[in-house]
Amino acid sequence: MLKKTTFSLLIVLLSMLIVVTIDAFLLKNSHVDSNVALISIPSPEKQILAIDEKHPLISILNLSNSKPQQAQQVLDDWSKALARKPELIELIYQLWIQRNVAKSHEQWESVAQYDHALFELATQQQITWLESKLYTERAFKALRQDAYHEGLVNIKKAIALAEKDQAGFILLEAYNTAGILHNALNQLKQSQLYFSKGLELGSKYPNNEYNGRFNNNLGLLFVHLEQWDRATEYLLKAEQFYRTPGQLMENRLTVIYFNLSYVHIELNNVDKATEYYEKAMEYINDDTSRYLHIVSFKAKGRVDLLAGNAVDAEQSALQCLGDSDIGQYPKQMGICLYLRSLALFDQGKENDAVKVLSESIGVFKQISHHRWLIRSNLLLAEIFEASGEYKQALTVYKKYHGEERKQIINEFHALETAFEVRSIAKERDLLGVQNQLKDLEGQLTGDRFKILTLWLAVVFIVTLWFVSRSVIDRRQNRRLHDLSYLDPLTGGGNRRLYYRELRKPEVLDKEQQYRLVMVDIDWFKRINDSYGHEVGDEVLADVALKLKAQIESDELFIRWGGEEFLLLVKDRPDFRMYSQSLVSAINRSPLNLSQQSLAVTVSIGASGPCNLDQLNKDSTAFSLADKCLYKAKEQGRNQYVVAEDLLY
Ligand code: GH3
Ligand code: MG
Ligand code: MG
Repeated sequence: MLKKTTFSLLIVLLSMLIVVTIDAFLLKNSHVDSNVALISIPSPEKQILAIDEKHPLISILNLSNSKPQQAQQVLDDWSKALARKPELIELIYQLWIQRNVAKSHEQWESVAQYDHALFELATQQQITWLESKLYTERAFKALRQDAYHEGLVNIKKAIALAEKDQAGFILLEAYNTAGILHNALNQLKQSQLYFSKGLELGSKYPNNEYNGRFNNNLGLLFVHLEQWDRATEYLLKAEQFYRTPGQLMENRLTVIYFNLSYVHIELNNVDKATEYYEKAMEYINDDTSRYLHIVSFKAKGRVDLLAGNAVDAEQSALQCLGDSDIGQYPKQMGICLYLRSLALFDQGKENDAVKVLSESIGVFKQISHHRWLIRSNLLLAEIFEASGEYKQALTVYKKYHGEERKQIINEFHALETAFEVRSIAKERDLLGVQNQLKDLEGQLTGDRFKILTLWLAVVFIVTLWFVSRSVIDRRQNRRLHDLSYLDPLTGGGNRRLYYRELRKPEVLDKEQQYRLVMVDIDWFKRINDSYGHEVGDEVLADVALKLKAQIESDELFIRWGGEEFLLLVKDRPDFRMYSQSLVSAINRSPLNLSQQSLAVTVSIGASGPCNLDQLNKDSTAFSLADKCLYKAKEQGRNQYVVAEDLLY
C-alpha cells in the first residue's frame, strides 16, 4: 500500500517536472519572441494570396503598369468568370488596376473617380492601410507638381494612419515621400529623420526596393550639405543595393549615377563626373521617362561646363528647356535655366545670362525653392560683379550670401544634431529593449538551470536506486545460491552443486580430463566420541579448509556427507604426487585444540581420468573411487589409492 502511494506520488511529481521543463525550454522561447515582434497587418498581396495561392489579380496589377489595355481585357474576363461575389481585397485590386489603366491613358477624371471610390471604400470599411496608401499617392502627385506643402499635409496623414496600423509596406513609401518633400522645402533635419526612419524600417524588409532609395536620398541630403564623402558613401550603398541580383532597376541606377556625377562635378573631378554621367546614359533610351531625359540633359550641361565646353553646355540646357514635358517639372526648368545662364556667362554673354537667370529666379520664387533661389541670386551677383556693376552685385551678395551661410550652417547643425540625437535615442531604445530581454533571458536561464538541476537530481536518484537494487539483488541471489548449494559448516559445495556442475558446468571445464577423489576422515567416530561433537565439527571445518587450499579455480570441492568429501580435480601427469599432497596436507600438522593437539588423518580413493560427459553418463568413476577409498582404509588408512593400483 505504502509502496503504491509512493510510486503514484513520484509519477505525479515527475509529470509536473516534465510540464515545467517543456514550458521553460520550448514554450518560453516563443513568449520572448512574440513580445519583441511587431504586430503588423498583412500586405495586400498576402491578403489576396490567402484567397488563392496564384491569384490572377496580382499579375493583372503588374500588367496594368506595362500593358494597360491588355490588363483591362484580362480583368474584364476575370470578373465575368467569377461565380461569386468578389472579396473586399479583390474589389480594391480591381479598382486599383482600373485606376492604373486610366492613369496610363491620362484620363485624369477617371483616375479621380477611382480615387474617390477607393477612398469611400477605405473609410466605410475602415481599411486604414488603403486610406494611407491613397494619401501617399496624393502626396507623391503633389511632390511631382512641386506642391510641397500640399504634399506634406497628405503624407502626414498617410504616415499617421500607416504607423497606427503598423503597415510597414506603405510606411516605406510614405517615409520616402515625406523625406523628399521636406528636402524640397529645405527642411533637411526632418528630411533626414524620415530617410533614417525608412532605413531602420527597411532592415525588416531587406529586399525592399526602398532600401536603395533611402540610401540614395540620404546621399542627396549630404550633397545639399556639400559633404561629398558622406554623400558618396550613401550613393554607393544605394548603387550596391540596386546592383544585387533581382534588384536591378535601371531607373534607380540611372538616378544614382547622375547623382554621383553631380558629386564629382562639385569636387571638380571631370573624369569621374564624365564616367558616372556615361554610366547613367547606358540606361537612357526611348522607353525612359521624359523626367529622366530632362535630368540627363541637365547632367550633360554640368559636365560640359566643368570640362569648359560652355557652348555644348548651353545646348544641353536648351535641350532640357525644350523638352515636351518640362512644364511639368518647374524645379528642373529652373535649374536648366540656371545652367543656361551659367553657360552664357562662361561665354561672356553677361546680359543674356542675367535675362535667363531672372527667368530662373522667377521659377524658384514660384515654387518657393529657397536653396535654389539663394544660388540663383548669388550667380546674379557674380555676373553683376563681372559686368562691373558692383553696387548691384554688393546688394545681392549682402542679402543672399549671408542668408546662404546662415542656412547652410543652421541646417548642417540641425542635421548633425539630428543624427546624434537620433542615434543616441535609438541606442537608448535598443538598450531598453535589450535590458528587458536580458532580464527575461536571465530569469529564463535561472529557471532552466533550476530545472536542469532537478533533472540531474532525478537521474542521480534513479541511477542510485538501480545500482543499489542490483547490488541487493546480487547479494540476495548469492545468499540463495549459498543456501542451496553450499555446506555451511565447511564452506564446501553440496551434492546439488556437484550434479548441477556436471549438467551445466560453470566452474568446471567440459574439455578437461578430471579424476573423482573421495576423501574420508579416519576414525572420525572416535573423535566425536572422545572429544564431543563440537570438536568433531571443528575437525571437519579444519580438514575442509586444508583440502580446499589444494583445489584450483576450475575444480570442485564437495562435502559429500558426514566426514566424507568429494573432490573433482583435473588429471595431472603426477597424480600420485598430488594425491599424496592431499594426504600430507591433513597429517602434516595436528589440529590445535584449547588444551591439547589432535592428530587427524584421511584416506583417499581416486578414479581414473574421465571427462564430464562420462561422469554424467554412469557411476563407474564413482564406484572406482569408492573402491580405492575402501582399499586405502583396508591397507591401514592415512594414505591414498588410485584406480591404477586396483589392477595389481
Ligand atoms: P573409518 O576410519 O572407517 O571411516 O571410521 P569412522 O569412525 O570415521 O567411520 P564411521 O562411518 O563409522 O563414522 C562416521 C561418524 O561420523 C558417524 C557420525 O556420527 C559422524 N558424523 C557424521 N556427520 C557428522 C557431523 O556433521 N558432525 C560430527 N561431529 N560428527 C558427524
Ligand atoms: Mg571415516
Ligand atoms: Mg565415512
